[in-house]
Amino acid sequence: MQYSMRPIHPRERCPCGQSRKIGANCCLQSSKTVPPLPKTGISLPRCYAAPLADCSEKLSLEHYWSHAIQALVAPKGLLTLRDEEGVIFENVPVKNLGSNVLCERHNNALSSVDAAALRFFQTGPEIVDVLDGKRSTSAVRCFEGESLERWMLKSICALLCAGLLKKKGGTQLHRSVPAHWLRLLFGAEPWPPAWGLYLPARMGQQMTFIPESLDLSTIDLPVRGASDRDSRELAGAILRMGGVECVLCLGDPGTPFLYRPTQFKIQNSQMQGLLTFRFYWAHGRTLAASFGQRD
Ligand SMILES: [Zn+2]
Ligand SMILES: [Zn+2]
Repeated sequence: MQYSMRPIHPRERCPCGQSRKIGANCCLQSSKTVPPLPKTGISLPRCYAAPLADCSEKLSLEHYWSHAIQALVAPKGLLTLRDEEGVIFENVPVKNLGSNVLCERHNNALSSVDAAALRFFQTGPEIVDVLDGKRSTSAVRCFEGESLERWMLKSICALLCAGLLKKKGGTQLHRSVPAHWLRLLFGAEPWPPAWGLYLPARMGQQMTFIPESLDLSTIDLPVRGASDRDSRELAGAILRMGGVECVLCLGDPGTPFLYRPTQFKIQNSQMQGLLTFRFYWAHGRTLAASFGQRD
């Protein structure tokens, strides 16, 4: 398989097939998470983004996963969460999964990443149709990769602040979000090299899809420059969506996993009904597309 990269023209037609321009109203409209100017100068104590000094006066209820996403991944209304040590909670009603960890202003700023993630999860029933042979046409679904990364980061931050994440060995993690994660989440800084989404898969590997499943476990990485070689810190999470593992690394994992994948395809055993997922990643200031071509 060979890939070629080329920048996307903002007025190009979106590959999803809807007659819309990429940059305008379709899949790849950029999801800004910077709160609108001017900055407020307020640090609301219980908002985890308080160090950015740009809060509003009121706290809001932040759901770890929006209602629409929960309805797709947990139609029976129950969710399970794991970490390195095992199950954190099992079959908890999703309506209880939220806490007051963000102010209204910061919560609103993240609504665009929720929308991007919702579009991603809405493909679940389509995948099932392809695998069940109920779909004979092919389709392309496009996603702006950083929005999905920010959505994963937002989930980790909310769970961390709610005291639900633990380190290996079961020690409770400190409930505050590192300042550089906040700057990434709210768009004040670009992603450092090698940080972001990884797929623990090989090119051409086949995966098993488990409909309506979502769980999350934490990962830790060695602390850079620490004198104690065993000292490790929370550095991301593995989210299993439909049984497929997506790893968000907030650090350089130094693994041969696929970093920021550009495309994967879903097909049933009869090779009918191809569903192609394309992920677009910013290169400098332009989004670039990678189109795979079989030689
Ligand atoms: Zn589109
Ligand atoms: Zn805030």
